[in-house]
Amino acid sequence: MNIAFVAAEVAPWSKTGGLGDVCGALPRALAARGHRVITVSPRYRDYPDAWDTGVRSRIHLFGQDHEVAFFHAAAATDGGTCHHLFVDHPSFRRSGIYGDASGAYADNLFRFALLSRAGIEAAALVPLFGRDAAGDPGGEPPFAAGKNNGRGPEPLGEDVVFHVNDWHTALVPLYLEALYRPAGRFTRAATVLGIHNAGHQGNFAAHKFAGLDISTRWWPHVDMDGQVNLLKTGAVLADKLVAVSPTYAREVCGELGFGLGGVFSARGRDLVGIVNGIGEDWSPATDVNLARTFTADDLAGKLECKRALQRELGLAQRDVPILALIARLDPQKGVDLVMQALPWLMQQDIQLVLLGSGNKALEQQMREMEWANPEKARGWVGFNEALAHRIEAGADLFLMPSRFEPCGLNQLYSLRYGTVPIVHATGGLADTVETLDPARDRGTGWAFRHFSVESFVDAMGWALLTWWKFPEAWAAMQQRGMRQDWSWTRSAAAYERVYAEVLGRRA
Ligand code: ADP
Repeated sequence: MNIAFVAAEVAPWSKTGGLGDVCGALPRALAARGHRVITVSPRYRDYPDAWDTGVRSRIHLFGQDHEVAFFHAAAATDGGTCHHLFVDHPSFRRSGIYGDASGAYADNLFRFALLSRAGIEAAALVPLFGRDAAGDPGGEPPFAAGKNNGRGPEPLGEDVVFHVNDWHTALVPLYLEALYRPAGRFTRAATVLGIHNAGHQGNFAAHKFAGLDISTRWWPHVDMDGQVNLLKTGAVLADKLVAVSPTYAREVCGELGFGLGGVFSARGRDLVGIVNGIGEDWSPATDVNLARTFTADDLAGKLECKRALQRELGLAQRDVPILALIARLDPQKGVDLVMQALPWLMQQDIQLVLLGSGNKALEQQMREMEWANPEKARGWVGFNEALAHRIEAGADLFLMPSRFEPCGLNQLYSLRYGTVPIVHATGGLADTVETLDPARDRGTGWAFRHFSVESFVDAMGWALLTWWKFPEAWAAMQQRGMRQDWSWTRSAAAYERVYAEVLGRRA
């Protein structure tokens, strides 16, 4: 299949969260499975590995023509090359992706309409894919001219699935309907809208609609309560919607749709959920950040990682459970629940390790927690990727009491590292963590249903009891979690089925 990802973030070039991770990893997993895949995202800065293709496109928006250039970086995978295109335009070259200290950029509607248009043009224009001697799509020479068999490389083409993501690129299905298909172009192209977080919808004043360069008869598809709402546009027009977990797919039909619940639920079976995968850099068998690697069959290395973590953080090297949390300090993450549970936690024979940054009040509470409990608690304020790996490896229990969580990654890392997760049963957390049932040899952690400090403490109480009294049940639970497959290969196979369905319908 021909697959074009259009997204505001593609890691490692640009990332503020899970969106960037998905749009970096999933396209590669699909290219590895033999598909022809491109990503199209903005060129926010000079990327040393991305070269000017020389291809230009003129796009009419907000009353004038804008020229964009396409830069290109190739990423080799086991199965084929994943082609990353970057749209070059002055409006993308700012300090932030969406805004800066003074708020969201005022021209974001223009910027992301431009990205959406450029994403469509890229599929039609940028020659990336080699042909074999007969001129059919075949081998994959690098972009450079002369490295082909004289027929020249060809673009991805118009028989393509556009996988667009969140509000930023949700205009792609509308532009296909309003501008391209009436001209006989992209008639068999299909669209999939990825929903990573429905809390952000791309709301703009109604008068800005005129800048989008489409007929006013499309206004009802864009209008939400008298405003432009880009996520709604995508939700109405994309052939299929994929939320980042099955439970989140149901939740966005209600309160967690933040006003779009009715729009999502009207899509019925065209709204599905697929849990994200985790990258190969999160594997305890090969993780370069660890004191010692380990596997489900040999957990000795995990104990060494625990001792190393205790040494690194200046905690006593005692045999007590380490409870950990790593998160953006945002109300969504429920860190306030941990703070409310602190009096109870500090009465237990445990060590507590929190790593996070964000909300200033929560940062201060983390510091105060450490000052008041120097023997038991560490609050590391900041962003530290290597430490995050060592905490996942060294801790016994991982806390994720999120208010809502579209997918969540840390609980998946925890499962793979034998660090038993305690989660609020919401979104992807509900889909990936099953509460321990020792009688039936089932379960990988604890998922508490009610978002309250009582339920959270109750779950932690069961976990501590199990850790102290039932080490065999504990080890079996760890191993069950570690042996689960949360790889991108699994998710990519599920996405393939969605693409095949929508392409089939359009054909
Ligand atoms: P979200 O995308 O909502 O932030 P996820 O659980 O999906 O939540 O992903 C968060 C990612 O960011 C994880 O890889 C997590 O380890 C990482 N992370 C968050 N805060 C920190 C931090 N302070 N230091 C290191 N890594 C962090």
